[in-house]
Amino acid sequence: MGAAPTYCALFSLLVATNLALSFHRATDDSCSEFHVDQTQCQPYLSLNGETTKPPLLVVSLDGFRSDYLGRLAETSKTNGLLRLARCGVKAASMIPVFPTVTLPNHYSIVTGLYPESHGIVAHEFYDPELGRNFSLPAAGFSFSDSNLLDPVWWIGEPIWYTIKRQGKKSAAFFWPGSYIDDSVRRPDYWLPYDGKVPFQQRISQVIDWLQLPQPKRPSFIGLYLEEPDGSGHNNGPLSPLVDEQIQNVDHQIELLLNSMSANGLLGCVDIIILSDHGMASVPLDENVVKLEDMVKDIRSSAYCFDCAEGLTPTLLPVDDSQRERDRIASNVECRNEDVRIYDKWDFPRRHHYADSRRISSLLFDLSIQWRVIVGTEDYLPGGHGWDNIYPDMAALFVAQGPSFRHDGATVDSFYNIELYNLMCLLADVEPAPNNGTWGALHHLLAKTPPELPDGKDFVAAYILDYPLNSQGQRVHYIDDQKRRRVCDLLSGNNDPRRNLGFNLTDSYAKQLVVLHVPWGLPGTNKSGVKVLVSSDFVIGFNVQDGIPSWVSYTVSKSIIESNDSLIPSWRADPRLRVSDVSICDRLKENPQSSSLLLAPLFFPRLSSSLRQSTDAWVETNAIEISPSFEKYWEDIEAMIVQLSANLPGRLNIFVGPVRDSPSPAIFLVVSYCPDPVELLACFENQLNVQSFILPTHLHYSRDCLSTERFLRSHLTTIRDVERASGFNLFQSLLNEAKVQLLRRTILASSLLVDPRPSPIQTFGSMTKSFRKNHAIRLGNPICFSYWIFGLFSVIFTAVLNNLNAAV
Ligand SMILES: [Zn+2]
Repeated sequence: MGAAPTYCALFSLLVATNLALSFHRATDDSCSEFHVDQTQCQPYLSLNGETTKPPLLVVSLDGFRSDYLGRLAETSKTNGLLRLARCGVKAASMIPVFPTVTLPNHYSIVTGLYPESHGIVAHEFYDPELGRNFSLPAAGFSFSDSNLLDPVWWIGEPIWYTIKRQGKKSAAFFWPGSYIDDSVRRPDYWLPYDGKVPFQQRISQVIDWLQLPQPKRPSFIGLYLEEPDGSGHNNGPLSPLVDEQIQNVDHQIELLLNSMSANGLLGCVDIIILSDHGMASVPLDENVVKLEDMVKDIRSSAYCFDCAEGLTPTLLPVDDSQRERDRIASNVECRNEDVRIYDKWDFPRRHHYADSRRISSLLFDLSIQWRVIVGTEDYLPGGHGWDNIYPDMAALFVAQGPSFRHDGATVDSFYNIELYNLMCLLADVEPAPNNGTWGALHHLLAKTPPELPDGKDFVAAYILDYPLNSQGQRVHYIDDQKRRRVCDLLSGNNDPRRNLGFNLTDSYAKQLVVLHVPWGLPGTNKSGVKVLVSSDFVIGFNVQDGIPSWVSYTVSKSIIESNDSLIPSWRADPRLRVSDVSICDRLKENPQSSSLLLAPLFFPRLSSSLRQSTDAWVETNAIEISPSFEKYWEDIEAMIVQLSANLPGRLNIFVGPVRDSPSPAIFLVVSYCPDPVELLACFENQLNVQSFILPTHLHYSRDCLSTERFLRSHLTTIRDVERASGFNLFQSLLNEAKVQLLRRTILASSLLVDPRPSPIQTFGSMTKSFRKNHAIRLGNPICFSYWIFGLFSVIFTAVLNNLNAAV
């Protein structure tokens, strides 16, 4: 009973605070100071009698995890970010690039490039051509390091240079890459890094820049603040000290807004507040793998970069030969499913982390909170660098200003490489070539720009050109020459009766194309792609390279149960000339051909009848795989069968080989429409898509991963598939719908595999146990009445706020 009065007292206090806050908010919740009439901005924005675009201010709060915004809402002591978000727009989160560390991400944000293209691939790496190390070890990390000043490391075109090049002004306060020793590529206004400059001083400089008269005023200002990253590393993301720093930076934002308001700038400037990455707790003495225990001579045989803390380790053998890589990797592979070692070309393609000489030859894909060190370590309770698919690595995005929508909406997560195009649009300059997709963030804007210059990249190749006979049936190319040529691989019976399934009338073939390629034939600028149609699937076959480019099929609802006909018996395709298909030559030339298998792109088991399953065993449906990939491919077949059986709607599969990198792979796009009747009639917002690029010849850990882990590791975006295959997909969708689909992230769908890795202990789960232990007791009647009063005051606040919002 002794506790009851305490609770009651606490409640009275709560009620009083809530009421006080509600009145405080009643005045503060208005967005009127942001949503100013744009005619008021005209004097500020006018230049030579014309109204220019508002200046763009981008503030980076290092290490501000996306869910810190929720923690800020719980404390309510400062009112910066939440006020901005309420009167502007925010994202559920912003997805950083891999590795999820400071420099690569800050430079990706301002260039729109993946690290493999902008050169800052990590905090520690070696450039063999320069013969030099870029080195910012975690201990003694310094933004004044000479590496950060040397322009040779910084490739690509940051937004400030794009702007400068196009005759406008730009500014940056400590943004990584902005204070390099290159007066041409530096912003017009910049400062040499000095971490001791107080945040407030930085903010007053920004205000001064914003008040410069035209045309001296910068169109872009980048501002960098080091917190809450430092406190997250030193204390772990759950620490109250992080809460302090969240409030500290929020207070700085509040001061910035107040100062802008006092100077009549608020509502006339576009503001983006973002972060580079999130932060996760690092368990002490747990989940640490010591390379020394696996490879005895690792200290002398390889350079291990970022291996002090071990969150983003990479290995470069001293003798970087295939043999030496294999020796090192063979001692590490398959020991632990949470520590996956890769040849860099096999590394999950969604990271775009291979095509740079600065990327080490052996990479690790670590589960979150896992680390790889050499022997001894630098331990810190908080860290980041892991796969960007983990919610704890997710970053912040909040925007407000005349160009942004101002309904307080929360849009889906997006990738930070998309920002560069948007910032160029806001600054009214032409973007340099980059990895973003034009239009991907136009839904953040108050007015959608009318034109998408990047629209349809390709025209559709619709070729059904093999000749018809006088009855309108297809004439086969199969002839004696072809039968004689058939190599050992294609030993299947070429009894002409087996090919009857390919004898389709032209009109039926066209119907089948509509069924199996419901989003339109993939567009390409390649010539020589022929479309081969059969009842259960359609092949886009490249007769110049002699390989299938893609296979597309809508999974039949009546697939065959029997496995009788499924003994592989590959045969020549009667629809193509001998010279059109290269499979025999390819395998003859391949030194490893004895260890290769042929896999069907369309699974014969998915045929709608036993007779039609014979259509699937043609050379044009075959692709080489390594024996270890067979297990995964069979499991994927089983998953598709099961998925199709369990879902009411129709499933479409688009699959083909990827040959644009030294690591051959298969792309796989699974799309699903819940409408049980027709795929084509699918509303675009109902369309659910998941895509993968699966390495078929993994160097290491070939078959020791579970299929689920394998699939999850190799998830990609549709855009990645387009880039890797050279095809423009979903061509029948309107441009806007297509961009909507593209921007749906790999996190949005779970058709074949749940993209969300198993959760780690987060702040959310702590709050839950906290609530359980402090459950409110309603036993005491006096206390109960306080509780009811409290409830009413909360409702009253809500009503008041709504009224206020309506006004
Ligand atoms: Zn950072």
